[in-house]
Amino acid sequence: MKDKKLVIKGTIIDGLNKKETLKQGVIVIEGKTISDLGKEGEVKIPEGAEVYQGKTIMPGMIDSHIHICLNGEPGFHQLVLESNLYTYSINAVVYAKRTIEAGFTTVRELGSPGYLGISLRDAIRKGIIPGPRILTSGQPLSITGGHGTFLPPWLHSDCDLGMIADGTEEVRKAVRTLIGSGVDLIKLLATGGVMDIITSPGAQNYNLDELKVATQEAHKLGKRVAAHVEGLSGAKDCIRAGIDTLDHGIELDDEAIQMMIDKGTFLVPTLLAPYNIGEHGVKGGIPEFAVKKNLEVIKKHTQSFQKAYQAGVKIAMGTDMGTPFSRHGENAKELELMVNNSMSPMEVIMATTRVASEALGLESKIGTLEKGKLADLIILDGDPLADITLLQRKELIKLVMKEGEIIVQR
Ligand SMILES: [Zn+2]
Repeated sequence: MKDKKLVIKGTIIDGLNKKETLKQGVIVIEGKTISDLGKEGEVKIPEGAEVYQGKTIMPGMIDSHIHICLNGEPGFHQLVLESNLYTYSINAVVYAKRTIEAGFTTVRELGSPGYLGISLRDAIRKGIIPGPRILTSGQPLSITGGHGTFLPPWLHSDCDLGMIADGTEEVRKAVRTLIGSGVDLIKLLATGGVMDIITSPGAQNYNLDELKVATQEAHKLGKRVAAHVEGLSGAKDCIRAGIDTLDHGIELDDEAIQMMIDKGTFLVPTLLAPYNIGEHGVKGGIPEFAVKKNLEVIKKHTQSFQKAYQAGVKIAMGTDMGTPFSRHGENAKELELMVNNSMSPMEVIMATTRVASEALGLESKIGTLEKGKLADLIILDGDPLADITLLQRKELIKLVMKEGEIIVQR
């Protein structure tokens, strides 16, 4: 059978051109890929092609930081009491569907128990269930007593978000074990955080030698490294070690920012996580320790984000979806927060498409609308450059396409 041909017409935001959109644009899709793109009248419309028309066509969005087993529950304790691996897995199928229905065609899944992320990724890849393309880290690595300590030690649960590895040899072994189990990248819990019961967000967890071993080992085996980083010393050691994405980046000074620029380290800001914890607080059921820690970090976080942006650090959009009150399918709220913190709507769309694809190492396949790329795109009934919040309104996302296949049509 010959490849199916589709034509989409509208104003194109291609993810490449920072200044302008392509008005009266046409995209031709054959099979999984974009075979032609240009101005109406200049592009040959293949015979028998199905034609779709919309206001704005843009690349499918990419969320570089999600947790597919969580869905905004205020704390882990209640969730753990009600859940086992099967519960998490069944729920994750629903969350994956909500994600693609919101226009997110690719996500980086940075922490779920066991083989959940891997199995979900593969089921979507095989077309068994709908969902975004997933890159998963499986369990993140944590030191004993580090940010991976989400439950008191006397509670045993299937939801072990963290895999414990201490010292260079355990870290090396853990990286190899994860890669052997089929993960796409390694996630390191490099410093303390907000949602665990033990750490201080600013406290460094992994030492430089451990970070270096993890990164070298992952890179040697062809995998990238994402690091959960809140405190400043941990940030600098992560950058020195050569990690690929610095996630959260609560405390960044001028030196750290310059180091990121020199090394080409991406920042995945996740402004949504602290925002939602701050909005809902203890009255929303979030544990008091987390609300307190959040108060310590939230202002520093937006300041660091703005400084990094102004200095020219590469910023890839990520939400930390799954953390309290951050629910799958509501990922585009992050874009509004990025605009509220100095970025232009066009820059934010770039951060959610092209730059994110680079952070994930998928830039040769997705992230822009170009000839030869996979046809991952959305049609929005509105102009996101005039109002970035339109991307949060699912009823306006008229079509979601992944690899040339229409997954959602409204
Ligand atoms: Zn996270």
